[in-house]
Amino acid sequence: MTRAGRHFLQIPGPTNVPDRVLRAMDGPTIDHRGPDFAKLGKEVLEGLRPIFQTRGAVVIYPASGTGACEAALVNTLSSGDRVLIMETGWFSHIAWRETATKLGLQVEYAPGTWRRGASPEDLEQRLRDDKTHTIKAVVVVHNETSTGVVSRIADLRKAMNSARHPALLIIDTVSSLGSIDYRHDEWEVDVTVTGSQKGLMLPPGLGYNAISEKALAASKTATLPKAYWDWEPMLKNNASGYFPYTPATNLLYAMREALAMMQEEGLQNIFRRHQRHGDATRAAVRAWGLEIMCEDPREYSNSLTAIYTPEGHDADTLRALILDRFDMSLGTGLGKLAGKVFRIGHLGSFNDLMLAGTLSGVEMGLRLAGIPHTPGGVLAALDTLSVPASKAEPVMS
Ligand SMILES: *Cc1c(COP(=O)(O)O)cnc(C)c1O
Repeated sequence: MTRAGRHFLQIPGPTNVPDRVLRAMDGPTIDHRGPDFAKLGKEVLEGLRPIFQTRGAVVIYPASGTGACEAALVNTLSSGDRVLIMETGWFSHIAWRETATKLGLQVEYAPGTWRRGASPEDLEQRLRDDKTHTIKAVVVVHNETSTGVVSRIADLRKAMNSARHPALLIIDTVSSLGSIDYRHDEWEVDVTVTGSQKGLMLPPGLGYNAISEKALAASKTATLPKAYWDWEPMLKNNASGYFPYTPATNLLYAMREALAMMQEEGLQNIFRRHQRHGDATRAAVRAWGLEIMCEDPREYSNSLTAIYTPEGHDADTLRALILDRFDMSLGTGLGKLAGKVFRIGHLGSFNDLMLAGTLSGVEMGLRLAGIPHTPGGVLAALDTLSVPASKAEPVMS
C-alpha cells in the first residue's frame, strides 16, 4: 500500500538518514586504489576523531556494529582470557557476552537489573578481588539501547583506576556516539566501538573502532585468530588513505557528508539538542502516567526512551497499531522485555517538530489501544520544547 507523506522511523537505530547524506551517496563508485579515494579516505578518517573525542586512530570496517564488537575483542585478547562484561540489557548480552563466549573467552558477566547502568562500586570490588589481574578487559555498553539507560563511563574509569587494575576498557557506543557526550581520550577508553546507523545518521553498513595506544600495544601480543578484522594491515593502509580490501566507497561519501553536517551544527549543540528531546520525551511519559525503564535520572538516555506498558497491555500490539494507523515504527521490547516495553528513538537527524509528531502518534496510539493513561503528554513535551532558548539550561559542564 502506498502511503502519503514520510514514514516516521522512530526506532533507536537505524535512524532517519538526512536527504543531504542520501544524495551524497549518489555518485560514481571510484577506484579504491586511485588518488581520489586516498583523499576521501584521509578526510573521513581524520574527521571522525573529534566525534570520538580522540586524537588517536579510528578504523572503519564495512560491517555492522556487531562486527566492530568482534574486532575489538579479537585484536586485543587471547584464547581463554577473562573478560568482565557488565550486564546492562540485551546488547551487553547479545553483542558482547555471546560474541566473547563464541570466541573462546572466559566471560564473567556481572549481573545487572536492566534499569540501572553498570555500577562503579561493583566494578571496583570485582577488580580488587582479582588480585592476580586475570581479567584482561572490561566491557561496558555506554548507552544500552534495549533499556534507555546510560552507564557513567567517567565514574567506571575512576573505579578501575582506584582499584589499580590494568584491564583494558572496551566501550560500546553504537547508540550514543554523536548523540550523547562521549570522550574516548579523557576517559582513557582503550577501544570504542560504534556503528554507522544510529547517531552518525548514516545507513547501516559501517562499524568502527577507536583505538588507544594501550590497546594497540595489546594487539601486538593478542593471539585470538583474526584476519579480516586485523588492525595492523588496516592501520598501515589507512596511513595513506587506503584500505586493505574494497571499502564501502559510497557509504564513505555519506560519511563525509554526515561529518560535515555534524561539524556545521557543532558537537555540543548536537548533545544539547538530544538532551532537550530526551527531557521532552520523559515529560510526556510522566504526564501519561506511564513508567520509564531507567530508574536513575543521572542515567537517562538522551537518544531513546524505553517505556513500560501497564500490566496486561501488550507493547507490541500498541506498536503494530501505531505502525498501521500512523505509519510510525517504534522500537520493540528485546529479550525478556518483549511485549512489556516499547522504545521511542529520538536520536540522529531529528528536530522538535519530528518529536512532536512522534509523541502525538504515541498518544493517539495509547488512546486507540485502550491503554490506561492520562492525556496531555504531548502538551507537556511542547511545554518543555518551547522554553525560550535564553532560559534553556546548558548541558555541558
Ligand atoms: C545496535 C547496537 C548494536 C549492534 O549493532 P548492529 O549494527 O546491529 O550489529 C550493538 N550495541 C548496541 C548498544 C547497539 O545499540
